[in-house]
Amino acid sequence: MKASIEQLAAYVPEKTLATLQAELGLPRLVRLSANENPYGTSPAVATAIKNWDFTQSNRYPDADAQALRTAVAKQQRIDPDSIVFSVGLDEMIVMLSRTFLGAGDQVIVSAPTFSEYGLHAEIEDAKLVSVPTLANDHVDFKALAAAITPQVKMVWLCNPNNPTGTVESLADIEAFIQQVPQETMVLIDEAYIDFAADAAQVTAMQLPAKYENVVVMRTFSKAYGLANFRVGYAVFNQRYAATMQTVRLPYNVNSLAQVAALAALNDPDFVAATVQKNATERAKWTKFFDEQQITYDQSGANFIFFEYPDADRLADYLLHHGYLIRTGLRPGWLRLTIGTAADNQALQQLIDTYS
Ligand SMILES: *Cc1c(COP(=O)(O)O)cnc(C)c1O
Repeated sequence: MKASIEQLAAYVPEKTLATLQAELGLPRLVRLSANENPYGTSPAVATAIKNWDFTQSNRYPDADAQALRTAVAKQQRIDPDSIVFSVGLDEMIVMLSRTFLGAGDQVIVSAPTFSEYGLHAEIEDAKLVSVPTLANDHVDFKALAAAITPQVKMVWLCNPNNPTGTVESLADIEAFIQQVPQETMVLIDEAYIDFAADAAQVTAMQLPAKYENVVVMRTFSKAYGLANFRVGYAVFNQRYAATMQTVRLPYNVNSLAQVAALAALNDPDFVAATVQKNATERAKWTKFFDEQQITYDQSGANFIFFEYPDADRLADYLLHHGYLIRTGLRPGWLRLTIGTAADNQALQQLIDTYS
């Protein structure tokens, strides 16, 4: 076994919601720890899945995901050949790490951020360099640029960032890219971009065509409500797109997942309603935190990161009252997924009575 893997801390999978609920003896337990869509999934997806031709079960899926590829290319106004699909964005993080990293290489992140970037860097025997965010939890682009050395093969930018929710402007991102050597990949994870108020102005979607070292990633797991189907994609410059298709396992995205993603894409009203309800609820949360004098980061996502004295004890209290939120991302801070209006109200009441 690779020494880098032997050293990894054992993975502790999350208990299923049902198991946790039974253990706690709760009549209802709501998971607001995984940034899932609280409004479910478009009914158009259910119809498409039911209409899927089951006689195709013994056949391999379309390796090129042609129908989905065409639809995504049209939606994003990009070259269909620049898209590489993956089993959720998680698999794309694995593929990118496997392709661009070797032993002794370095990977830069703005910390705190999504832990998968660091995990897969370690598996490839690369070193993770964490550059702390600024006081307002925005990316410190100056420090990020200063950390780049010839050993640095990748820089991850998560925009909006998980767990802070902070959004960086396209101008700042592009100015940063212009300081990065062409041999260093800049990977922009836009898992939550649909939730940003000015998503169309903020997205870096058109940059891979312009810069060969830029990759932009999206997932169907969040705003599109398809976390269980595992579909994500990355957009590459033509310098790398064909090679990445070679790295990808040919039948990674199964037909049901392709059908579900296509149906979800063809129901923009569901996504728009999700984004709109999320924005309304997000505004209620910031108002609540302001009133409670609780420090929080400005979020352009479907979650909020906030500071609370004795954070883990609050999380435990909320868990015992039916709400699971995310701990362990930064001492004294918690991340909660913005839920439905009823759940947010109940949760705010619980926090209010706890304090
Ligand atoms: C949820 C998430 C992903 C990946 O989700 P998939 O379900 O694997 O597509 C990627 N990046 C960030 C920052 C996320 O929060």
